[in-house]
This record gives sequence, structure tokens and C-alpha cells, in this order.
Amino acid sequence: MTQPKPNNTASFPHGLFCRACGWPVLHVCCNDGMAKTEPYASADYWGYCSNKTCEHHAGEEWWMEDPEFSFRAPTDT
Ligand SMILES: [Zn+2]
Repeated sequence: MTQPKPNNTASFPHGLFCRACGWPVLHVCCNDGMAKTEPYASADYWGYCSNKTCEHHAGEEWWMEDPEFSFRAPTDT
């Protein structure tokens, strides 16, 4: 039986959403297929909107700051 892949590669940062469409923004580590595909291969981390039809689905390299197209929403926790 195939072991599941580790689940720490990609995540939805808590309360982080796309300015354009409001969908959750993904934070991913550029490994596996991402490490073999430009422009992701040149980056360590990438951030992009989870909405396939959003202009920010392509996303951008993620450094220390949240991506330009994202915002932090107030959360309950
Ligand atoms: Zn979006």
C-alpha cells in the first residue's frame, strides 16, 4: 500500500485571503513538481489564490511578507 505524502508541503495560512476574489490563499513549498517547473523552481516558497479562475491563481514568490494580492482577515481564534 502506498504511503500518503507528508502533508506539510502546502497549507492555507489562517485568515489569509485574496484581495480580488476573497478565496483562501495557499502557501506552498516549491518541492516535487514545483522544483522542476519554472518559475517555481527558482523560489523556495510560493503563494497563490486557490481560485482557478482568479487573476492571482498564478501567484508570486513568497518571501517574508504576505503576498501583495492578499489580506489578513480578523479571525475568531
Ligand atoms: Zn483570488
